[in-house]
Formats: sequence, structure tokens, C-alpha cells
Amino acid sequence: MTSSPPKPAAPAAPAPVTPLGWMHTARFLTTAAQLHHLPDHDLPEIAFVGRSNAGKSTCINTLTQQKQLAFASKKPGRTQHINLFSLGKQGITDAVLADLPGYGYAAVARDDKARWQRVMANYLVSRPNLLGVVMMCDPRHGLTELDEALLEVIRPRVEQGLKFLIVLTKADKLTRAEQAKALSIARLQAGGGEVRLFSALKKQGLEEVAQLLWDWTHPANATGEAASPAAPETPAD
Ligand code: GDP
Repeated sequence: MTSSPPKPAAPAAPAPVTPLGWMHTARFLTTAAQLHHLPDHDLPEIAFVGRSNAGKSTCINTLTQQKQLAFASKKPGRTQHINLFSLGKQGITDAVLADLPGYGYAAVARDDKARWQRVMANYLVSRPNLLGVVMMCDPRHGLTELDEALLEVIRPRVEQGLKFLIVLTKADKLTRAEQAKALSIARLQAGGGEVRLFSALKKQGLEEVAQLLWDWTHPANATGEAASPAAPETPAD
């Protein structure tokens, strides 16, 4: 019996980049207590905001599949910092996530709160390459006064094209009917922005949110191909 020699293994094709795979590339970049300490860069930046306890850290950790990434923002001394994370395959950063401190936490001293509201508002109004804002909201409480105030701050930029997404967190705590109701209320409040249901517990909405952030940061160019060098190759049809 003859057996042909084993063929050399074909070089492995590069794994296609899925939006969720891209989210998993998140790496801690830097932390800053003041706006002018944030590094300048010319990549699209997406800010995550939300009332404290809305589920923001859990959402970021679940999306990036890194247990402690956003919880780094909760370490003493960092709770009032803007924490930046880089995203990008093969070490080539193509987007930046900014985790902004949770607001509305009762135990924060009034002066600190006021200072923080200013830093946050300044960031949202003046960060040059801010591409989009993701607001986490616990749908059992709906948008709070502070969420509404933040919406007011970014409204002029949203009208000029800033992208906006409300993530309704902890969706597992709602029945299907409650989820549908929360979605339609939030859609009215989002003023043309997007809304997605999300549950870290049930892994619900991960792909949808990742896809949206990918689409924001990798807009198709005129030929219909994704603009990013890290984008998966699509067969010509
Ligand atoms: P943050 O203050 O906005 O960063 O909120 P956390 O991520 O710390 O979450 C606040 C609380 O909500 C924690 O007790 C989490 O375990 C809980 N939580 C967050 N996401 C979910 C979720 O998807 N489902 C459920 N049931 N609980 C969640």
C-alpha cells in the first residue's frame, strides 16, 4: 500500500474580522482627570456615558470580553477620570473608546460633582474627533434627569452628525412586552439616534451593538468597500 506524502499545510487564511472580534481587541490606552491631559489623535472616538449603576462597566467588559477593562475605571482615584481604550486588529488602532465616569452617584461630594459635570460637558462639546456617544440606560428607570441634561448638551452636535445610541441594559430583567415598550419609548427620546436592547447576563444585543460601532467607525467608501485596512475582504460579485 502506498501513501502519498503529506502535503504541506496551506498557510492559514487570516481570520475574518467580525465586529465583536474587533471589540475584543480593546486595550487600555490612558486615563485622564482633565480634558487637556487627553492625547490628541485623529481616529474616531466613541464615548460611553451613563448614570452610575446603569450597567456601563459590565456592558463594556462584555463587549470587549475583558473582565476588568472598564472596572479599571472604578478603581479608587480613577472614578472621575476619562479612560481611553484603543481598538484595532494586528496592533493597528483604528478607533478609540472613551469611558466617561458614571454620573449621579449620590456619595460624590457636591463640588466634585459640579467639576465633573463641567469636564464631561466640555468633553462632549469640544472633543474634536468625537464620532459618537453611547448612553447606557437601565430601562426599568428610563432616562433620568441627568441623562436628559446630557442629551441637551450633545443635541447640537447630534444635529451636525454626531452619532448617538441608547443601550437599554439589563434587558433580562424585563419581559418581552416590557422590552418592546422600553424600546419604543427610548426611540422617541433618542431623537433620531439608535436604540438597542442589551443584556450582559443573557448575552443579548452584543453583536448588534458591536456591529453598529463597527459601522460608525468603518463607513463604506464610494466603491462600497469598508474604508478600514483591517476590514474583511468581501468577494466581488
Ligand atoms: P456602572 O456603574 O454603570 O458601571 O454599572 P455596573 O456595570 O457596575 O452594573 C451595576 C449593577 O448592575 C451590577 O450589580 C451589575 O451586576 C448589574 N448588571 C449589569 N449588567 C447587567 C445585566 O445585563 N443583567 C443583570 N441582571 N444585571 C446587570
